[in-house]
Order: sequence, then C-alpha cells, then structure tokens
Amino acid sequence: MSDFEYAPALESKAIANISKDYGLFINGKFIASHNKKRFETINPANEEVLAKISLADEVDIDKAVKAARAAYVKVWSKMSGKERAKYLFRIARLLQERSREFAVVESLDNGKPIRETRDIDIPLSAAHFFYHAGWADKLEFAGFGDKPKAHGVVAQIIPWNFPLLMLAWKIAPALATGNTVVLKPAETTPLTALLFAEVCQQADLPPGVVNIITGDGSTGAALTKHPDIDKVAFTGSTEVGKLIARSLAVSNTPVTLELGGKGANIVFEDAPLDQAVEGIINGIFFNQGHVCCAGSRLLLQENIHDEFLSKLQKRMSKIRLGDPLDKNTDIGAINSAAQLAKIHELSSSGQAEGADIWSAPCQIPNKGFWFAPTIFTGVTQAHRIAREEIFGPVLSVLTFRTPQEAIEKANNTPFGLSAGVWSDKGSRILWAGNHLKAGVIWANTFNKFDPASPFGGYKESGWGREGGRHGLGAYIKGAK
Ligand code: ADP
Repeated sequence: MSDFEYAPALESKAIANISKDYGLFINGKFIASHNKKRFETINPANEEVLAKISLADEVDIDKAVKAARAAYVKVWSKMSGKERAKYLFRIARLLQERSREFAVVESLDNGKPIRETRDIDIPLSAAHFFYHAGWADKLEFAGFGDKPKAHGVVAQIIPWNFPLLMLAWKIAPALATGNTVVLKPAETTPLTALLFAEVCQQADLPPGVVNIITGDGSTGAALTKHPDIDKVAFTGSTEVGKLIARSLAVSNTPVTLELGGKGANIVFEDAPLDQAVEGIINGIFFNQGHVCCAGSRLLLQENIHDEFLSKLQKRMSKIRLGDPLDKNTDIGAINSAAQLAKIHELSSSGQAEGADIWSAPCQIPNKGFWFAPTIFTGVTQAHRIAREEIFGPVLSVLTFRTPQEAIEKANNTPFGLSAGVWSDKGSRILWAGNHLKAGVIWANTFNKFDPASPFGGYKESGWGREGGRHGLGAYIKGAK
C-alpha cells in the first residue's frame, strides 16, 4: 500500500489575543514594572517576536510578596475550604471554556504541537484545578490532622516545557490548602501564565491570592531569597535546584524540588514489541523530549535488539516534524536557541565518544529551532549521553542480558524520576517495580499523568511529590 499524504491542517491563530506588551500581575491588576526593563518572548518555530515581557526586579518582588501576604492574612486564610473550592472550580471551568485559545498560545510560545497542547497540556491543567477544588473542603479528612494549616505565602518557579501545566501543578494545590502565591514562569514561555492572570480576574479571585511576576533567573533567585516567603516550590534543572536548596538551607524554609531525570525504559524479550515501540516513541519524542521524566535511555534485552531497532526506525521514519499549529504535527520546535545548542553539544559528544547516530529523515524548516528525532546505538554507561539529561528528542540505546543487569543499569544514574517496564509477565513487572529506584514507574505504557497520582523523584531528581494526597502535604505546615 502506498503512503498516505497529509494535507496541512492548520489551527487558526486568530483566537490568540496576544498583547504587544505585558506588565506584572500584582494584587489582581497588571502593573508596569519598577525598572521598565523588557525582554521578548518569541515563537521558536519561526523566531518571530510574540510580545514584550516585563523583567521584575526586587522592588516588584517585594510588592508581589506584600500583596500575597495581605491577601493571606485578610482574606484567604479566613475563608472556609468550601468557599476556596468555588474559586478553584471557577478557574477550572474557565480554563475549559478558553481551552482552544490557551492551546494556541501555548503552541506559539513554546513550540510544542497543537495536538499535545489541545489534548494534554490544557485539559490536564483544568483537571488539576478540578481535582484540587475537590480537596479544598476535605483537608481535615486527608490525614494531616484535624486542623491542617497552610504555610502562608508560597514562591513558585516553573520551567518552560509545560508552562500552563506546571503552573496548574503549583497553583492548584497551593490555593486548595489555603496558601497565597507569587509565581514566576520561565522567561521563554510566560504567555499562558499571563493569560492565566486574566482567568484569575475573570474568576473574581480576591486580589493578591495569585501574583504572576515575569523575569529571568535573576528574578527567580531574588524571589526565593525574599525574607517573607514561607515556602518555595521549584521545577527546573538540577543545577538551579541545588542552588535554591543551598540558599534556603540557612533560613530552613520548606522547599519542594522537581528536577531532572534520565529515565530508563526497559524492554524484556517477552514484551509485546509493537506496543513497546509506540511506548518508547511516546516516552522520548513526546514534547520534543523536553520532559524531565522522559524515557531517554532504552534498555533492550540483547536477543531482541536488532528486531526492535528496525521496528523503531521504521516507526520513527513516520514521525512528522513541522509547524506546531498543524494538527498532523508530531514533533514541534525546540523551545529556544540555547536549548538547541545544548542538544547539539550532547549529541556531538555521543558521536565523539563512539556511539552510532541515526536520525529520522525529516525536512527541517529554514527558520526556527529544530532537531530531528534521533537515536544512538552502541551506547555504554560511560557515555555522557547515557548519564546526562539531554532534554531533547534523543534516545540512547543500551542492552542487557539478564533482568538483574537491566535493573543495575537502570538504577546506575544520579537521577531517579521515572522508569518504564515492558513485559508480558505481571510477576516480572512487579519484581522490576520493586527494584527500580524511580518516583514513577510505568508498566506497558509511558508518560501517563493524572492529578490524583503523586509525581516526583529520588536522588538528584528532587524532593517531595506533586499531585494526589502526597502533593497536598507539601503545602500544609508540618505535614508528613
Ligand atoms: P532550564 O535549564 O531547563 O531552562 P532552569 O532551571 O534554568 O531550567 O529554569 C527553570 C526556572 O528557574 C525558570 O523559570 C528560570 O527563570 C528559573 N531560574 C533560573 N535560575 C534561577 C535561580 N538561580 N534561582 C531561581 N530561579 C531560577
């Protein structure tokens, strides 16, 4: 049978109402920043400027923290859980109502395909608010004692790979448990957080309960160091996570960190191979591989290596890379020039260290930042591409002979965020699950997320959990 041709199926940009210039969202209003400094956020698929964004400094941060403190003391800490829940439900419904607009803006600002923003990022963000709305009036039954108390003012810093979803992971549990928030989105993807500020206004959220300040790493660092912050929640690189942990150790401020990963996806000889190929593809190429829990190391049982690899390459050849707003696109743009440079650097190290590279035959657009789905074979554990997080569409393939060896190789990493096991045998899956040191372990599937399921890592992948009852605990004083 000959191949199907795909005609372009572009989502319209018309629904995205992006302002030219954004202020900071403090105390329920958009205001100009103190120093009037601006930076640009661009569309990584074509390098066009989308908007000018304010760069908050210490004066702005102080204003935001003061607004959050006043809202906490005067309004939010006095409100019953039942009343708080109404706001969370309202926000969730508004996200659903505006989901198409959010999906388009997220694809424009981040470069990820509309298929993913439409079907995953935005619906899951709304789901997080619905889920936590349900908890807000039931906290005393959640096992945190009969009078669970919020920390107070929470500083939250999020990365660029799932901008709105990471915001939802942070803000929904914080508000449900009665905290107020100052959140900083990543400098390359601030737009959906600023759109979310509008949603807070629409939902009539009391001013100061959520404050969104934009800026770069210097803004993030200043926010975590503000003396009136009661708790910090950070998602991002292990490097910055360590800096934050170090700076907060002095004040003993509670902190949760969701950091990097180098997830192993283990395929045993008895696995359903075609299904496993789909799972491996989803595990590493979803969101261009910009996923901290990506299955970036494929561990193949040696006797199925050749067969599996040829199936994988055949499937990879069908991946469509291109315009993120095209509904047929599987792989969009890399989020920034800086990230693309990092992927190139690590990928070159793989070649220099002797691994074999193979990339899917994709047409790379002339403008923007792109990297074709790539696999490295002949990878050993000593290679940098087996040890360091690439955060791009690059898969390192290793082999093993015995189940024991698979576990040893999978655990041989400073990280411990995710793992996948592919096998026909339930007993083998349970055995592997018991021996893998990872916060999340998927069996015969990968990258499945649900607000009710706790997510987080061991070792250098971070501290604490987000989602589920465990995630609530991070926002309650003294909770275990
Ligand atoms: P990446 O390397 O993937 O961009 P980062 O950890 O640098 O990840 O960024 C994640 C978030 O942390 C972003 O919002 C960024 O602005 C912020 N950030 C960067 N450096 C610091 C810092 N020293 N302190 C606090 N936040 C920071």
